[in-house]
Parts: sequence; C-alpha cells; structure tokens
Amino acid sequence: MALIVQKFGGTSIGTAERIESVADRIALFRDRGDDIVVVVSAMSGETNRLVALAQSIDENPNEREYDVLLATGEQVTIALLSMALNKRGIAARSYTGSQVHILTDSAHNKARILDIEEKNLRTDLDKGRVIVVAGFQGVDESGNITTLGRGGSDTTAVALAAALKADECQIYTDVDGVYTTDPRVVPEAQRLDKITFEEMLEMASLGSKVLQIRAVEFAGKYNVPLRVLSSFDEPNFKDDEPNGTLITFEKDEKESEMEQALISGIAFNRDEAKLTILGVPDEPGVAYKILGPIGDNNIEIDMIIQNIGADGTTDFTFTVHRNDLSVAKEILTNTANELGAREVIGDDKIVKISIVGVGMRSHAGIASQMFKALADEGININMISTSEIKISVVVDEKYLELGVRTLHSAFGLEQSS
Ligand code: ADP
Ligand code: ASP
Ligand code: MG
Repeated sequence: MALIVQKFGGTSIGTAERIESVADRIALFRDRGDDIVVVVSAMSGETNRLVALAQSIDENPNEREYDVLLATGEQVTIALLSMALNKRGIAARSYTGSQVHILTDSAHNKARILDIEEKNLRTDLDKGRVIVVAGFQGVDESGNITTLGRGGSDTTAVALAAALKADECQIYTDVDGVYTTDPRVVPEAQRLDKITFEEMLEMASLGSKVLQIRAVEFAGKYNVPLRVLSSFDEPNFKDDEPNGTLITFEKDEKESEMEQALISGIAFNRDEAKLTILGVPDEPGVAYKILGPIGDNNIEIDMIIQNIGADGTTDFTFTVHRNDLSVAKEILTNTANELGAREVIGDDKIVKISIVGVGMRSHAGIASQMFKALADEGININMISTSEIKISVVVDEKYLELGVRTLHSAFGLEQSS
C-alpha cells in the first residue's frame, strides 16, 4: 500500500465524461489499497475564460480580486470529481486551498507556498477518504486567496506530496510523459523514460510547459519522486514496464555510459521580447544605468548583450517577458533621454529556442553543431546565451517550428528515447 498524490490537468478533467474516467482510474488505485490525494486543475479553457472576463472589466484588474476570481475554476472540478467518487462508493472530500491551509506569501498571481498543515489531511486519510484538493491556490497569512501562477496545480501536487511524504507524485496530463520536445511541434519527438531534475528544471524554465518550474524545484528540494503520465492511457501497474517519465536525481551510470544522446531535449519560449538601446556612451556604469530602473520595476531580465563600443558609444540589447515589453520600453526610453542615447527599439516577434542536456558538460563542439544546423536552414541568430547544460538562441518568431525541428533532427533525437 502506498500513498500517492495524483494531479489531473485541465484536459484530463475537461468534461463530465473525463471526470468520470478520472474517478474510474482513482477507483483502480483504491482497489489496490493505495491512499490517494488528488489535486485538480480547472476544466481546460476555464482559467483563460476567467482571465478574459476580468480583463473585460479592467485591463489591469486588482490583484486580490483577480485571484479570488481565478481560484473559482478549481472549486468546480474538486466538487464534481468528489461527487463522481462518492457515486462509486468511494468516500471522498473536496477542499479548496484555503480549507487545507496551503499557506502562501502574499504575492498575488505568483504566490509561493510556505507551509501546508498536514494534520487534517492525515485525519481524512486515516478515515479511508480520498482527498480532492483544488490546485493552483492558497491563502496568505491574512486570509486572502492567492494563486500560484499559470500551471500552478503541478506545484500544489508536489507540495502536498512533500508535506505528506508521499511515495510518488503523479502528474497526469494529455501526453504520456516528457518528450524530447513538445510533440505538438515535432510529432517525431520521443518520450523519455527518465530525465534528471537538473535537465527538467532547465526544460521547464526555458519554456516546456509540461511541468511548472516551481513544481520541479520543489520536488528536487524535498526529494519527491515525480512522474508525468497520460490520463488517457489505461493505468499500468506492471513494475517492470516503463510508465510515463520519471524525474530522477541522476541517470544510472550504466545508462549514461551507453547513452549516445548529448542533448536530452529542446525547449522553446514564445513569451519573450527584445529591447535594444542604440548609441549609449561606452563608459563604466552604463549597464547598471540601463538595467537598474528595469529591475526596480520588478521586471525580470533574461538574456543580455552589450556590443563592442565604437566612437565612444555602444549598443545594448536584452530580453524581457512579452507582457513586460511596453512598460520596459517606456522605462528604457526615459533612460535613453537621460543618457543621450540615439534610439530605443522594442521587438516582440522573437522566440527563444534552447537545447538542454547534462551530456553537454563533457563534450565540446555542441554549440557549433547547433549554430551550423541553424545556419544551414538560413536561420539568423539574434542572441546567444549558454550555461553548463544548456544553449539558448533568440531567433525570429517565424523560424520557431523550423528551428526546433532542425535541431531535433541535428542532435538525433528521433532515434533516442
Ligand atoms: P495540463 O493541463 O495537464 O497541466 P499542460 O498543457 O500544462 O497540461 O502540459 C501538457 C502539454 O505540454 C502537452 O500537451 C505538450 O503540448 C506540452 N509540452 C511542451 N513541451 C513538452 C515536452 N518536452 N514533453 C511533453 N509535453 C510538452
Ligand atoms: N488552472 C490553472 C491554469 O490554467 C492552473 C493549472 O492548470 O495548473 O493555469
Ligand atoms: Mg500544466
């Protein structure tokens, strides 16, 4: 008998039939004698609908009220799923985030989980109940409802698994695991039986939305066994068959020796925008003068490039989230006036494509292989950034699909698994 946290995403519970099917799956686990804590998202499309509704009233809605609204989506699905379980003779209880006391900080729309009271959960589990918890939401110290950022139900599930020291946290979605890249863009992408936390963290932070980055961080920090699976497949209880994708600490030594693939996956992000300030004085402190005011406005900066100066001036380019472009451009225009810079250019028709793999550490030449593959397709690289296990490039938005497919085949990912 195991304690398992199972999270079902929007498409997995997008209709009444899907909810019935999820209830059937939970019943099979119960028949085995497992204790189950379930976390659900809102029905697919519901959170987007709520966002649009809020924006039809106010383009920049009050953050507190926005969270009150967004949290309603998950309240619907916890109740419906609990009804479906009760109908099957399974004792189940639904709880909102504030009812199970998922304590968060007060950063509305992107709150961080600080603590979860496990006492009440244990009482329910001891009584043989299935607990159904609303994902993506919590409550701050003053009792305000908070939400955890889009895709945040993954994080709720991992946090509950950590608090309860569950045997496994299973993330059920519409694909049967983590793939070498988004299978919607490259149908030949391969499912990975395993991926390391380190790689998954990079993939998630570079745009692979199959797991929310905070969920991966949390699972790594608290040692939560984490698996991604499809809610559309029959459950597989055979221990000797790979099931979905397991996120692990290390690849087996034997496996990594045999493994030819240097790159585990390709991630991409459509949410970035680029800002360039031209003709700034090339003198000490200029980077600080440009980026300081951006940071002071809580705008995160991703990639940065400063060109080699000529004639005592230089150009400076950096990327921000697309939603921050207009505010960042306004700030930068003020800075440009103060510094006597020539021009400010904003561009949101860009994307970031990244290759990720721990194999990169021990191999030279990966970057040139990447750049050559892109050059052969006539794809111009605007910016580059690297770390130990990833290389990212910024390219024109129109090259997204071509770029991802090109790199996927250049690194032989179709054949690996
Ligand atoms: P859920 O609603 O279940 O949380 P998401 O839409 O958040 O589901 O995440 C699943 C989706 O993530 C898949 O449908 C797939 O298109 C996308 N995805 C992006 N990158 C990957 C990847 N490397 N492997 C698998 N899926 C990926
Ligand atoms: N319903 C929320 C969203 O769409 C949270 C989640 O699905 O994880 O972002
Ligand atoms: Mg998701």
